[in-house]
Amino acid sequence: MRKPIIVGNWKMNKTCKETVEFIKAIEGELNDSCTYGVAVPFTALKDATATAKNLVVAAENCHFEESGAYTGEVSIPMLKELNVTHCIVGHSERRQMFAETDETVNKKVHKLIEADITPIMCIGETLEQFEANETEKVIRTQVAAGLKDLCPKCVAKIVIAYEPIWAIGTGKSATKEIAENSCAIVRDEVRKLYGDEAADAVRVQYGGSVKPENIKEYMAMADIDGSLIGGASLKVDSFKAIIEATK
Ligand code: PGA
Repeated sequence: MRKPIIVGNWKMNKTCKETVEFIKAIEGELNDSCTYGVAVPFTALKDATATAKNLVVAAENCHFEESGAYTGEVSIPMLKELNVTHCIVGHSERRQMFAETDETVNKKVHKLIEADITPIMCIGETLEQFEANETEKVIRTQVAAGLKDLCPKCVAKIVIAYEPIWAIGTGKSATKEIAENSCAIVRDEVRKLYGDEAADAVRVQYGGSVKPENIKEYMAMADIDGSLIGGASLKVDSFKAIIEATK
């Protein structure tokens, strides 16, 4: 049985003070049915991990080198020191605005697994690719490239977030059928490359305009094991409603 994982992706939002207040307000609401977490800016990680008890704390990015001349970057040992247990890699905003590629995603995934931090690897097609019926090809390519040269046991530990770019922050969420179809393709690609054990264990999230009103219908789908949630994860009431809806 795969335990679903629901993670709020705060992006470039919230100060340390706001982070602590938010986590304190949420902690008492959690239940065992899912793993719940928040991905917070680097500056808030230390306070977040010090405050969170059951809520998982994720970084939103990392560098694959341990140290060196990479101005503005944060390494995995630095995250490890702060007790960070999860890390988003390859979010479409980083692919589009900060030159993230399948190759850098793959390097980060390898290093995170070595450090025993769970990667949340984001993939998803553009609107243009969706309209040209290229979704399957795009996500199979991204899955294969992002997971390249990992062992099946390593793949089993990973979270893959399928996030169609046209659904992120647009309010235009994918229908549950489209989301399920893509998540099933992700799992099928994992099965083809890494076998049944990895495919049955890997958790596949849907992300893109998920909110309290629609999360239940995604969670009811066979291949959707949770969600990565941007906008609707920023307000305590909305996050509480998401937790309530996924009990
Ligand atoms: P959204 O963002 O929920 O605001 O669409 C999702 C994400 O970027 O992970």
